[in-house]
Amino acid sequence: MINYLYQEQNWQSQLSDLITDPQELLELLQLPQDLLGGAHLAAQSFKLRVPRAFVAKMQVGNPFDPLLLQVLPHHLELKEHPDFVTDPLGEEDANQQPGVLHKYKSRFLLTLTGACAVHCRYCFRRHFPYQENLPKNQDWLNIKQYIESQPEINEVIFSGGDPLTLSNRKLGEWIERLSSIQQLKFLRIHSRVPIVIPNRVDDELISILKNSRLRIIVVVHSNHAAELDDFTCHKLAQLIEHKITVLNQAVLLKGVNDSAQILSNLSYRLFDAGVMPYYLHVLDKVKGAQHFDLTPDQTELIYKDVLANLPGYLVPKLVREIAGEKNKTPLFGTTNF
Ligand SMILES: *Cc1c(COP(=O)(O)O)cnc(C)c1O
Ligand code: SF4
Repeated sequence: MINYLYQEQNWQSQLSDLITDPQELLELLQLPQDLLGGAHLAAQSFKLRVPRAFVAKMQVGNPFDPLLLQVLPHHLELKEHPDFVTDPLGEEDANQQPGVLHKYKSRFLLTLTGACAVHCRYCFRRHFPYQENLPKNQDWLNIKQYIESQPEINEVIFSGGDPLTLSNRKLGEWIERLSSIQQLKFLRIHSRVPIVIPNRVDDELISILKNSRLRIIVVVHSNHAAELDDFTCHKLAQLIEHKITVLNQAVLLKGVNDSAQILSNLSYRLFDAGVMPYYLHVLDKVKGAQHFDLTPDQTELIYKDVLANLPGYLVPKLVREIAGEKNKTPLFGTTNF
């Protein structure tokens, strides 16, 4: 472990002090520089970006650390593969207006920022042109009109990018605006920041969330129990104490969490913190992520073991996002009725 007391540093300064140089990352972890190979080239199209608090959870000297593998650019990202494309989910077509991504009936994504605290190498949005698509304050009235024209919408999902990279003031403004629309009941926040910078869960954020009329659901993103040290769990538990529902989504990744044992440990660890496993996504076929891919047979084998290992309430739903479908598509166990 790296001796870095990230518990004591506020999230804003952690966010402005991210590690972006692969060389520095390897030095901190006492790993040989030759691990980089063609990584610099891979980092040109999608930069390295990782908070020190996340690096502090990595194992020094371990080139196969499951947290490191998620963030370190790799020369295999440069390999072309016909099945792996820049916009695997067809999101560019689903864009209704700036920031609004409405594919599912009752709920839609509002992307308020393109920025993330961490760059996950497998991310399906790594090529998405966010900067052209962010809503500005003056877009608010259009968004409101859009929601009101779709009476089935009862939930807004803040997505990104990562919405918790925004200031509390900005989040508070959007939440207040949205809560003035009576048909909305739920606000969901999809974020990896509480995992990679746990101090993001500060008193002001909690106060904004717990005082909203909307029912708040925070969906964090953690792929491995090693991401969930005591301090991180303590921060997640603070949300739960204030009646905020906290769920986790994970992505099944070769070399990171591709065993039933690892996935079971993750579920138990989440449950320790009061967080319920929600989704286990199979990898979206995005260009540059093919080295994280598992075959359907491997995936099925792992998931069947997860089903056997865990009580039903700790089993995340294994899903795939299929472009054009009206919901995430569950895999396995759905063909028998
Ligand atoms: C996953 C996703 C949602 C949320 O779906 P749930 O199944 O309700 O979690 C909404 N919009 C988009 C575009 C998504 O990819
Ligand atoms: S935090 Fe989420 S949106 Fe951002 S790079 Fe990682 S997976 Fe993608």
